[in-house]
Amino acid sequence: MNEKSKFFVENIIAWYKKHHRKLPWRNTQNPYHIWLSEIILQQTRVKQGLPYYLKFVERYPTLQDLASASDNEVFRLWQGLGYYNRAKNMLTAARHLCENNQGEFPKNYQELLKLKGIGKYTAAAIASFAFNEKVAVLDGNVFRVLARYFGIYTDIASPQGEKEFRALAESIVPENSSEYNQAIMEFGALQCTPQKPNCMFCPLREHCFAFAYQEQESLPVKISKTQMRERFFAYIIWHNEDKIALKKRLHKDIWQNLYDFDLQEKISLDELHQIQVQGTFLMASEILKHQLTHQKIFIRFFHFESPTPNLVDKNLEWYSWQAVQNLPKPIIIANYLQTLQTQNLQG
Ligand code: SF4
Repeated sequence: MNEKSKFFVENIIAWYKKHHRKLPWRNTQNPYHIWLSEIILQQTRVKQGLPYYLKFVERYPTLQDLASASDNEVFRLWQGLGYYNRAKNMLTAARHLCENNQGEFPKNYQELLKLKGIGKYTAAAIASFAFNEKVAVLDGNVFRVLARYFGIYTDIASPQGEKEFRALAESIVPENSSEYNQAIMEFGALQCTPQKPNCMFCPLREHCFAFAYQEQESLPVKISKTQMRERFFAYIIWHNEDKIALKKRLHKDIWQNLYDFDLQEKISLDELHQIQVQGTFLMASEILKHQLTHQKIFIRFFHFESPTPNLVDKNLEWYSWQAVQNLPKPIIIANYLQTLQTQNLQG
């Protein structure tokens, strides 16, 4: 390892010892707990993910407990975190390990990679944090710190970038990979942040390329190819005495396996103002905006009273308000129902 890399590794670890946040998954080598935390923290900030981690560990203290839970119960507990595929894959992996591997996690990177929902990053994190395997983790934080410190302009979203950064990361990961990997991620999250990195008090700045050339804003380079998509949802909430009609979203789309209402996906914002269906109109909500990573969704809820909406065709079923509480729902729907409750409009 050259001097610049050695300086990097030593100072990152020293910084980590002083400044890291005390988080519950850092005090354990239990692969199940580490896996849970890593899946929850994919696409989710620590502050938002922490209460979910605590809830999951409490409700399902072991992998076996999770594997034997029902899908609906797990999705309900996951409600609000988004990217529900994570919960689905987690259940698949948990059940697979209980059926085929005595409820044990494989102890190395290559085997972990074979599990459902575990990509290179998560496999490296579990292998390193739980089993101290000498393998480098690469997430957004790591890309940023490496790109800035070493001055790498290759697009981090390109296959070439992935290759180049991985080779560099693997070449500098030390024997105590667990501590170092946690350190570099924490350093990216707290010190070398996307905006306004704290260069003034940075232990790396003496050798940092981005600091020397004031290139913090240009690095890392990421050429995004994903376009933001706008969608317009008109939700018809059918009422029948003290029940409302919901359905499970079965198709491959956002919110798969969660429950929603009779959905008419409209093509324009104007049409969201006016929905005509058969039944007695009760009320309509404001238009609500919901932002996902690559989709902006405009939603309006329309309430209609009807004794006989065509339930079968649309896969809808009647649920009491009480039963609706326990169904896993997209957070925007759960929040909307909550506002109805506070306005005392349910039932
Ligand atoms: S000097 Fe600034 S850009 Fe360089 S590693 Fe430190 S915080 Fe990041």
